[in-house]
Amino acid sequence: EMDTAFFAAWIEESARSVAAGKERLTDLDAAIGDADHGSNLDRGFTAVVRALAVKEPDTPAALLTVVGTTLIRKVGGASGPLYGTAFREMGRALGDLGDTAEVSPGELCAALEAGLAGVRRLGSAAEGDKTMVDALAPAVRALRRALEEGSEPREAAAAAAAAAREGAEATIPMRARRGRASYLGERSVGHEDPGAASTALILTALHTVAA
Ligand code: ADP
Ligand code: MG
Ligand code: MG
Repeated sequence: EMDTAFFAAWIEESARSVAAGKERLTDLDAAIGDADHGSNLDRGFTAVVRALAVKEPDTPAALLTVVGTTLIRKVGGASGPLYGTAFREMGRALGDLGDTAEVSPGELCAALEAGLAGVRRLGSAAEGDKTMVDALAPAVRALRRALEEGSEPREAAAAAAAAAREGAEATIPMRARRGRASYLGERSVGHEDPGAASTALILTALHTVAA
């Protein structure tokens, strides 16, 4: 079972990882976008950590909602509303499941599925379009599969993180069909998508705190 402190630790680890990867994310975005993904996300997660330090919400649902709302307000760009929606939809899904203080692995998986659905609804990206969906969708699938096969939560989180990293790498040969990178057409081929790369960092952070 995962409590509010677990989710706070996940977000703090994500913030650390985004801060450490800021330059790499910005370099990836320089190749096929406008070179701001690392600074956008770092600004957002810094604000999130500050907001949680002021007052840690009482439940995982409330915490994820604060995370999403803060990201929407602070990140800007395409990724702000998309990540913000993902976290808000996760919060909403947990709220619908009863807004309890403890979340089971199956409930976390359902919340991530709701987050993915929110990203898809807002951004209309399918897998293969070279976006964060190419990391998030396989990660959520791997988590679901691992839990159904009876894996320990820790192993399931490892599988999800690995799938996200593989999904991000698999964007390299893709041609972008959504977002700013799509303006480059064929010239977007050969570069990893920055949003897929940051999604892999966030899923890896989940594994780090679950381990
Ligand atoms: P911007 O492109 O506005 O500068 P960022 O650089 O912060 O915003 O984020 C770019 C990332 O957002 C892309 O690498 C991609 O993963 C993601 N993205 C952009 N458009 C979409 C979309 N329609 N659906 C899903 N993800 C998207
Ligand atoms: Mg950008
Ligand atoms: Mg931008």
